[in-house]
Amino acid sequence: RAKASGGNRFELADAEADARAITRHGLTTALPTALDRGEFFIEYQPLVHLGDGSVRGAEALVRWLHPQHGVLGPDRFIPLAEHTGLIVPLGRWVLEQSVRQARDWRERHADAGPMRINVNLSPCQLTHPGLVQDTVDILERTGVEPDALCLEVTESALIGADDDLLKPLRRLAEMGVDIALDDFGTGYSNLANLRRLPVSILKLDRSFTQSMQQFPADPVDLKIVEGIVSLAHSLDLAVTVEGVETGAQAEQLRILGCDTAQGWYYARPGPPERLHQLALVDATG
Ligand code: C2E
Ligand code: MG
Ligand code: MG
Ligand code: MG
Repeated sequence: RAKASGGNRFELADAEADARAITRHGLTTALPTALDRGEFFIEYQPLVHLGDGSVRGAEALVRWLHPQHGVLGPDRFIPLAEHTGLIVPLGRWVLEQSVRQARDWRERHADAGPMRINVNLSPCQLTHPGLVQDTVDILERTGVEPDALCLEVTESALIGADDDLLKPLRRLAEMGVDIALDDFGTGYSNLANLRRLPVSILKLDRSFTQSMQQFPADPVDLKIVEGIVSLAHSLDLAVTVEGVETGAQAEQLRILGCDTAQGWYYARPGPPERLHQLALVDATG
């Protein structure tokens, strides 16, 4: 009996692994041409100032509308795109779309203050020699100021980064593009290393926000966030927090000195029109 059920479990696990492999294979086959077929789209999630609640910008998050599987999140296909090299043209496409969107917001909501667009960069894009020129071209083509753009790079992508890897980021930072350190605090954080990185924003990982969920929050977690914020500010870095799902979290993070927040409490990622509405509400009070 035990042996039989063990066998069934094994077969089930096997079948699931097969299904995953088939899906992965299918996705890998369909991925290279998905960009040409226009199957990618971008959702935008607002970045909100914790002090006054105003919308300061948005993060661009790519999705794939797959003809058979429906909408797929980036976790399902970004690793494949990195593996197949599609990430470079895909990343360029996301950047151009997002910068156009930023221009549109700035034109339509000139009185709402300068809106900024955050775009995620994969490590493969960082090492691609065309990064700086592509970014310059896109900004010139669209007539958008570099300070409307923030590029997000994960902390892990910059672990042990040598000068060659940092050079393109430095160039972009010198031009006025902001660089944010994404998912900060998820692992290898070497705080001393922060000084040599051309970053101006720390994006505190969602795991910190989650620990603010309980009330009262774990005093040690509070101390850690407080310490990160004070170190960041002393290095002239702004702090953004991800994954804010409740008003209590937002309030706690505001008290701890975080500058900007992003999360479902404010808005889920959505189409650009949603952001127009949010910006309008904001501008009219
Ligand atoms: P990320 O850059 O850390 O983006 C934040 C993720 O948290 C997004 O997941 C967002 O939808 C989710 N999120 C936002 N607010 C909340 C919240 O309150 N609660 C919870 N539980 N989650 C929240 P998403 O859209 O699935 O993206 C996952 C990751 O995929 C991103 O993490 C980013 O690393 C990557 N990614 C997304 N778009 C791109 C892109 O255009 N290029 C590259 N290279 N990577 C991308
Ligand atoms: Mg990000
Ligand atoms: Mg993040
Ligand atoms: Mg994250």
